[in-house]
Amino acid sequence: MAVSKTKPVELIQEAYDVGQRIFGENKVQDMAAKYEVLSKDIEWHMIGHLQTNKVKYIAPFASLIHGVDSERLLQEIDKRAAQNDRIQDVLIQINISEENQKHGVMPIGAVAQILSWSSTFQNIRIRGVMGMAENTADEGVIRAQFTLLKQLFNDINANGLTVDVLSMGMSQDYSIAIECGATHVRIGSAIFGPRNY
Ligand SMILES: *Cc1c(COP(=O)(O)O)cnc(C)c1O
Repeated sequence: MAVSKTKPVELIQEAYDVGQRIFGENKVQDMAAKYEVLSKDIEWHMIGHLQTNKVKYIAPFASLIHGVDSERLLQEIDKRAAQNDRIQDVLIQINISEENQKHGVMPIGAVAQILSWSSTFQNIRIRGVMGMAENTADEGVIRAQFTLLKQLFNDINANGLTVDVLSMGMSQDYSIAIECGATHVRIGSAIFGPRNY
């Protein structure tokens, strides 16, 4: 997936013209604005932390919401999906680095929680899990965290819920993520160059 957050529509169009169809954004307003003006066959993925009061703006068109980590957010997504006559695909974010400032469900108990959520919401389909490794130069640490997420992904599949998306890896660590079994890598700066916030 090409992470196009902060990037102008002209650059997204350039990537589209050479065949890229999946783009990731982390701000609701930006994603909705870009959806309006760009080709309707683009798949828009929300990768940022989503606030419940903003779900309604992307509920009509979001292909996949990556950062879901609370029941309250699932309830809101379910409600808005129903209003739009859609089944919303989501990923549950797991806090694989177990850092306090990171979002996500803690790994312990995550599989049982996901299995329970998967049977609670009529208009949500949990497609898999998403995680971010610690920002460190220590490859062993990154590899251990991605391996943990792959293990949780396997455990979910072994316990009755079929999931097919394992979203992990960014520009700095995507090759390790692929070695560890990622089905989706989220690449921003390695495609579009550094971001100026
Ligand atoms: C920004 C972002 C990325 C992409 O980061 P790069 O280092 O630019 O590849 C991936 N995932 C998430 C959740 C992000 O917020």
